[in-house]
Amino acid sequence: MPQDFRRAQAEICRKLAGRQVMLGVDYDGTLAPFAARPEQARLAPAVRRVLRQCAALPRVRLAVVSGRPLADLRRRVAIPDISYAGDHGWCIQTPQGAYTRKLSPAIAQALVAVERCLRRVCADIPGVLIEGKLFSVALHYRAVAAQRRRTVRSCFQHCIRPWREQGMLETLEGALVREARPARPWNKGHAVRWLWRQSGIPPRERVAVYIGDDRTDEDVFRILRESDVGIVVGRQKRSGAQYCVETQAEVIEVLRMFARETMRR
Ligand SMILES: [Mg+2]
Repeated sequence: MPQDFRRAQAEICRKLAGRQVMLGVDYDGTLAPFAARPEQARLAPAVRRVLRQCAALPRVRLAVVSGRPLADLRRRVAIPDISYAGDHGWCIQTPQGAYTRKLSPAIAQALVAVERCLRRVCADIPGVLIEGKLFSVALHYRAVAAQRRRTVRSCFQHCIRPWREQGMLETLEGALVREARPARPWNKGHAVRWLWRQSGIPPRERVAVYIGDDRTDEDVFRILRESDVGIVVGRQKRSGAQYCVETQAEVIEVLRMFARETMRR
């Protein structure tokens, strides 16, 4: 079970000492509070301020990692010269350039079919939001009445089933969102590892810090070493992260601590 971040501060500071910090953060539920609709989830100015501080420190490489489309993510965070991994890591933008994974035409067609199916079967459920992304289709149901959410999940199962059975797509379960994504092994963890390698900093000289709240973030926590710092937001007892904070509102305190600590040598 993850340890309370506040009680582990001394240990975390020791891990940071003298190392280059690869700081990765998720967006929704981590940097920004959840909103009824995804387009309403905004970054608080105070959070942007401390992120900017972190990004400006020579010891820190900052990356924001999200399931959101890359362009949307960059617009929301709006800090230049940092890295962004959107679409669950399929599209990456670093200060040096852009990198996009390729999708096979068959998978692309499967995603189109799932989106079409969802639009048909969920048409009369108020509050459902279907989002066709480049590499996935998301079904958001945060705004759906609690007693109808089970129906929404069944609709999703119905639409993805044929493609899942063929091994083409898989279900990603998020916080009041279901997503159909390619069953190929590429996730936030792969994207974060790719960013570490791109940095050119040898593994022993760097410490990875990652903060996230959702199941997709577990793919990152899983690849962290004991000497790294994984922080889960929320009370997930089964997280692979070593540390936790209870709520999204506390994330700013965590970021302030990193800004303070990495300012020193
Ligand atoms: Mg999240």
